[in-house]
Amino acid sequence: MALMSCPACQKRISSQSKSCPHCQAELGERTETLVKISHIEQSNRLMNHSFIFLTLFIAGVVVWFWGGEPAQGVTAMLAISSFVLGFVGYLITRVRIVLHKRRSV
Ligand SMILES: [Zn+2]
Repeated sequence: MALMSCPACQKRISSQSKSCPHCQAELGERTETLVKISHIEQSNRLMNHSFIFLTLFIAGVVVWFWGGEPAQGVTAMLAISSFVLGFVGYLITRVRIVLHKRRSV
């Protein structure tokens, strides 16, 4: 038995149920298609997030070593923040993508 999210209220429900226990929305074959579409859209969103974080990570590295020397002061703070945020955000997004892919539709 697989779990899916209700197309009306987004809560987790069983794919076997005929209607959503949270919002009483009727579920049918059309719903299954909608759920598949929302699954693909979520994949795209996660890919966009990982791309943004990767850009942030690279930007941090570029700012840090701009001009051949490690940056100092405020620039260094900005570079490190961007670098760390990008790195952590990218890792979290990768994990979310793996978990998302594992979820069967
Ligand atoms: Zn619902």
